[in-house]
Amino acid sequence: MPKKVIDGLTVLIDRLICVGFEDCVTAAPAAFVMDGDGVADFADGAEGTPGAAVLEAARACPVDAIVVLDPEGKQLHP
Ligand code: SF4
Repeated sequence: MPKKVIDGLTVLIDRLICVGFEDCVTAAPAAFVMDGDGVADFADGAEGTPGAAVLEAARACPVDAIVVLDPEGKQLHP
């Protein structure tokens, strides 16, 4: 599962459940892109995205494929 630390938040993309509706890309285009298979992945430079935008993108995902943990490891979403 792809994982990055963005603005202090640990972000994981569960690519097995992503259904490719791109809501995350719409919400935070600096953090997420669609790959050639139509599945979400991290954008180059995703680390520079504000944490609020990443959380908004995670909340926009219809299948909760984006998991966000705070710096202490507490799950913020889903
Ligand atoms: S919003 Fe969720 S299901 Fe849609 S592309 Fe992003 S990760 Fe995949």
